[in-house]
Amino acid sequence: MTDMDCLFCKIVAGTIPSRKLHEDEFCIAFADIHPQAPTHALIVPRRHIASLAEMDAKDSDLVGHLHFAAAALAEKLGLAKGYRTVVNTGADGGQTVDHLHVHLLGGRAMHWPPG
Ligand code: 5GP
Ligand code: ZN
Repeated sequence: MTDMDCLFCKIVAGTIPSRKLHEDEFCIAFADIHPQAPTHALIVPRRHIASLAEMDAKDSDLVGHLHFAAAALAEKLGLAKGYRTVVNTGADGGQTVDHLHVHLLGGRAMHWPPG
């Protein structure tokens, strides 16, 4: 399903431009427009899934693939010292775009606990 009211569906479709970092059959990755680290990429499934809370069992492989793609992208971008992946879910999770995405953050030391 493609939801044409959805920002990330529009980026997947190419109707909104992005700086692409990776694409394959199942997902694309692009630079976050408001980076929170020297490297800040978003890995999004081509298919619209609103959030982790909306996924069902048949989406498990796809969600796993997003993390596989994130790790491959981290290697390609030279994040050998480490990186952080984040999936915000729902209002309390800080999710602002309702199309599932993995944040890949790197290029600086991360802190814990997160805000
Ligand atoms: P969330 O808050 O839902 O976890 O993350 C959404 C992310 O999308 C934010 O980090 C925000 O900066 C990014 N973002 C919002 N609009 C755009 C856009 O039009 N293009 C790109 N590349 N990133 C966006
Ligand atoms: Zn979407």
